[in-house]
Amino acid sequence: MMLRAHKIELRTNNKQATYFAKACGVARKAYNWALNEWQNQYQMGGKPSEAALRRQLNSIKRKEFPWMLEVTKNASQMAIMQLGDAFKNFFANRAKYPTFRKKGRDDRFTLTNDQFVVNSSRIRIPHLGWVRMRESLRYAGKIVSATISRCAYKWFVSITVEVKKPISLIVNENQVAVGVDLGLHHFAILSTGEKITGPKPQKALMNRLRRLSRSLSRKQKGSNHRHKAKIKLARLHYRIGNIRRDAQHKLTTRLVNQFDIVGIEDLHVKGMMKNRKLSRSIADMGFHEFRRQLDYKSSSVNVKLVIADRWFASSKTCSHCRVKNVNLSLSVREWTCGTCFTHHDRDINAAKNLEYLAVSSTVSACGAPSDGAIISVIASHVA
Ligand SMILES: [Zn+2]
Repeated sequence: MMLRAHKIELRTNNKQATYFAKACGVARKAYNWALNEWQNQYQMGGKPSEAALRRQLNSIKRKEFPWMLEVTKNASQMAIMQLGDAFKNFFANRAKYPTFRKKGRDDRFTLTNDQFVVNSSRIRIPHLGWVRMRESLRYAGKIVSATISRCAYKWFVSITVEVKKPISLIVNENQVAVGVDLGLHHFAILSTGEKITGPKPQKALMNRLRRLSRSLSRKQKGSNHRHKAKIKLARLHYRIGNIRRDAQHKLTTRLVNQFDIVGIEDLHVKGMMKNRKLSRSIADMGFHEFRRQLDYKSSSVNVKLVIADRWFASSKTCSHCRVKNVNLSLSVREWTCGTCFTHHDRDINAAKNLEYLAVSSTVSACGAPSDGAIISVIASHVA
């Protein structure tokens, strides 16, 4: 069994949005109260635990924080359980020491599965009734929990579902592999030579984004105009993200349907160069999202995903003779290999190298020797 989360935008009315904001406030207060208590008890030589802190809050809630009673008790209880998890992760060296939650940044609360019902594209929450979702739940399986959060002045629900683990992948030589090179000049390039251009509306929206962020910086801090501009900007960011995500969904679905093995590069490799902050941050988001989508889609249909680590010289290696051309600069879009004289398009060559890596690492996993050109595969899942 494994867990999958599906985040869906909610279509709230005023009453629902007000309730959510209140529940987020309660969750934040409970979390911060518990973190503060934890630190105090620890300093006094005590052994704090999330279970004891939940009981403690319950006993003082009515008197000290009566407004907490206005929303589901899940809001405060789950927040303290999450603090317990945060400490667990900290002690296991998986995470940093827990920090206090901030309004505007950590607006979320979690419901256990006995506190809500999902029905096609609606979710029913006690005291509140049905709340409409913009799409229906993608996964079938046992629903574990739902976290409601605010982002870019919109409300979302992230529903966690327990899904069956796919059967293990059997590798055979008839499998079709592809390497995918992601970039800023193009949306994606496949080792088949296909260039996939990015979604069209992006350029116009990006211009608007630039204008808006310039106008925001001119507005006085704390002013009403600034606040409005901020909302506009956040919404626009979200819209641009949506367009990109949409195109990514189409591509990642196609890749896992068409190929058995997909090779991609680790994040943070390309996009890092000579780009202005704005477009770079958007490209970064794109890499993360692309990888996330490929990751879950490939595992659910038994496609093998091979991720080359950042030291894999996908651009500089000749995909024909495998000799590394160390002096290739970033600006060179086309080049000829000095050893075998093959002429390369920089991005297609990179995609071909990723395909080669993906195939070799799959073959060597079956016992056949890899030829040593494969330097590193950091993650590949054979489910
Ligand atoms: Zn060559």
